[in-house]
Amino acid sequence: MTLNPMEKKEISMNVFYALLTALNDIMGQDGKNSVLRYAKLDKYIHTHTPDEISMDEKIDYNIFHSLINSMFVLLGFGTSAILYEAGRKWLIYLSPFGLSLDVMIKKLENWIGGKWDLIKKDDLEIVDVYECPICYGLKSMSGKPICHIIGGALSKIKESETGEKYDVIEDKCIALGDKCCEFRIVKKYKLDVKEYLKE
Ligand SMILES: [Zn+2]
Repeated sequence: MTLNPMEKKEISMNVFYALLTALNDIMGQDGKNSVLRYAKLDKYIHTHTPDEISMDEKIDYNIFHSLINSMFVLLGFGTSAILYEAGRKWLIYLSPFGLSLDVMIKKLENWIGGKWDLIKKDDLEIVDVYECPICYGLKSMSGKPICHIIGGALSKIKESETGEKYDVIEDKCIALGDKCCEFRIVKKYKLDVKEYLKE
């Protein structure tokens, strides 16, 4: 049975504000505001991130989905690297602590939904995301995977856990018709993500 992420209805509010803060860092205030405006989320334009967001506070999944969709439309085409970088920044605001990959993917599952599995094969780590809350309802226009935000976030998690540099490559994507989004975690010297993200 496939669960529709929309049916989850709510995600953690901290995730939403962390993404807004990351967008602000990368695109500046005007850039972030255009993304919000396109998403018809104008009411968040002049809203400051609350100082303390309790982990129990929730926000409607549709709000998060509109923001993600707007990022894809305004940033996504030809700028996968920006989405990847947004994912890395997002993670910094979500969790400043060096938590392990398996702990963090369970947190992400809790915060934004989907079903996240960590698979370890020899020295390779793979994360499978079923019912992916990022590309839900979207189709890739480029014939390539589109969930670079998750890729960026996973690379940052792995780096803060180990102190070493990692890249993350999305090999499968629900937006391409695959049954899950699959992310391969690779030590940086073995592969350059910039090559992969090139359009
Ligand atoms: Zn995907």
